[in-house]
Amino acid sequence: MALIVQKYGGTSVGSIEKIMAVAKRVVEYYEQGNEMVVVLSAMAGQTDSLIKLAYDMSDSPDPRELDVIMSTGEQVSVGLFSMAIKSLGYDATSLLGFQASINTDNLYGKSRILDIKTDRIMKELKDNRIVAVAGFQGIDDRGNITTLGRGGSDTTAVALAAALKADVCEIFTDVEGVYTTDPNICPKARKLDVMSYDEMLEMASLGAKVLHIRSVEFAKKYNVPIHVRSTFSKERGTMVVAETEDMEKVVVSGVAYNKNEARITIRKVPDHPGIASRIFEPIFESGVVVDVIVQNTSEDGFTDLTFTVPKPDFHSALKQVGVIAKEIGAEKVLGDEDISKVSVIGVGMRSHAGVAQKMFKTLAQENINIMMISTSEIKVSCVIEEKYTELAVRVLHEAFGLDDE
Ligand code: ASP
Ligand code: MG
Repeated sequence: MALIVQKYGGTSVGSIEKIMAVAKRVVEYYEQGNEMVVVLSAMAGQTDSLIKLAYDMSDSPDPRELDVIMSTGEQVSVGLFSMAIKSLGYDATSLLGFQASINTDNLYGKSRILDIKTDRIMKELKDNRIVAVAGFQGIDDRGNITTLGRGGSDTTAVALAAALKADVCEIFTDVEGVYTTDPNICPKARKLDVMSYDEMLEMASLGAKVLHIRSVEFAKKYNVPIHVRSTFSKERGTMVVAETEDMEKVVVSGVAYNKNEARITIRKVPDHPGIASRIFEPIFESGVVVDVIVQNTSEDGFTDLTFTVPKPDFHSALKQVGVIAKEIGAEKVLGDEDISKVSVIGVGMRSHAGVAQKMFKTLAQENINIMMISTSEIKVSCVIEEKYTELAVRVLHEAFGLDDE
């Protein structure tokens, strides 16, 4: 007998029929003697519709009320699911975030889970019920409803698995698992059987939208094994687990890309102490995540500075930088939105040399110009022209031996 936390995403519970299919699947596990805690997302499209409603009422919805509205999608799902379970002759209880004591901080729209009191869930399990918990929501210390950020139901599930000391956390979704790269642009992408938390964090932060990033951070911190798998098949998916020695044998385990960044260059910046801090301070203060930063060596006391920001922040960042550039006497500011970042990822890089060189060579063979480079222990990223993204992903996937034969 095991304690299993399962999470089903929006497309998995997108209709009455699908909710019934999920209920049947959960009952099978229950029949095998497992204790079942099931976290559900809102039915597909519901969260978007709810947000739209709020914006129909106001151009800048009150953050507290927006969370009150957004969190209702999951409430419907757990209610319908519990009804489905009961119609199959079993007992279920639906719990909203506050009823399951999912305590968060008070950052509406992007709250973090602080702790979970498991008494209520444990009691329900002890009474042989299947427990359905609304994903994506919690309660702050003043009793306000909060939400965890889009895609946050994954984090609810992993946090519950950690708090309940579950044997496994299964994330059911509409794909078979995590792939070596995006199968939509590289038909030879392969499903990974296993990967480390760190690799998943890199893949997730680069736009492989399989798991909510916070859920992986949580899983890593509390060592919760995550099984990402399909709702629509019985195949095993991808296990996301702590790093093992075996994983180091594979040099590169995935190729990721991100088209959602833009580049800002400041030409001829006077090169003296304090300048970088002057330039970046207002950008950081407005909460913009600056990614790759490159500064040239200075010539005659001037240098060029280039960095990337998320595309939605591009115009405001460009404006801010323009003002500072004038103040500090830089020559000019240039912006480029048509870029993308391609990365090769793998814990095996730590023990293998030459990954960066192979990446540069592979891109060069296709005549793809590298504009910026950044590296970490388990990743090499290159910023290139956006129109070459698909080509770059495919040739790198092949060069690093990831193609499905
Ligand atoms: N329903 C929420 C969203 O669409 C949370 C989730 O699905 O994980 O972002
Ligand atoms: Mg999701």
